[in-house]
Amino acid sequence: MRRKLAAGNWKMNGTGASLADLSELAQRYPDSAIDILICPPATLLHRAAEVTKTSGVAIGGQDCHAAQSGAHTGDVSAQMLMDAGASSVILGHSERRVDHGETDADVRAKAQTAMEAGLLSIICVGESLEQREAANTLDVVGGQMAGSIPDQSTGENLVVAYEPVWAIGTGKVPTLEQIAEVHDFMRTLLEKRFGESIGQSIRLLYGGSVKPGNAAEIFGVSNVDGALVGGASLKAADFSGIIDALADA
Ligand code: PEP
Repeated sequence: MRRKLAAGNWKMNGTGASLADLSELAQRYPDSAIDILICPPATLLHRAAEVTKTSGVAIGGQDCHAAQSGAHTGDVSAQMLMDAGASSVILGHSERRVDHGETDADVRAKAQTAMEAGLLSIICVGESLEQREAANTLDVVGGQMAGSIPDQSTGENLVVAYEPVWAIGTGKVPTLEQIAEVHDFMRTLLEKRFGESIGQSIRLLYGGSVKPGNAAEIFGVSNVDGALVGGASLKAADFSGIIDALADA
């Protein structure tokens, strides 16, 4: 049985004032039957971990460097994330692939380092609108998975998030059939590469305009083990609607 995961990505949003929403979430979920994760900006990690430490809400980073330490001005290492109280890290988000030119090889190197440090890596994959319209979705997702996921991956250290780039922050969501097609394909790829037992144990998240109003139907799709949520994770009330839909799915 894969444990369900509701993960929130605050992106470059949030200052100390936002911890009130996190505190509300932590109070609402003192413990939880599903995994709940918030990935705030790096500046809030330590305070966020303090606010959530006796709750069912875990804290994660949004990126880390592939090196353990060194001359990399402005970057954050996996060890630093752990030290600040994070248990997970999002890697290869499409915004990092586009804004920072991150390649599959970069994402794989970061994930290797994150796994060695003891972090759960949430590796993001997903096609652009152009790629979907050219019927290349499965090729793109398959290529990103082959290139970005390290060989030492297991259900303990890896989560894969399918995030169609055209659905992120746009209010557009693929049909349930389209989500099922990609998630079933991803499961098959993981089983082929890692064997049935490990392939079945790796959780698959859907991400892209998940809201309280559409969460339940998305969580009913085969091989959807949870969601990676951007905008709707910023407010405790919205994210709670998604968490509750996942817990009930
Ligand atoms: C994301 O950035 O990972 C995301 C899914 O954003 P949103 O939920 O806002 O579409």
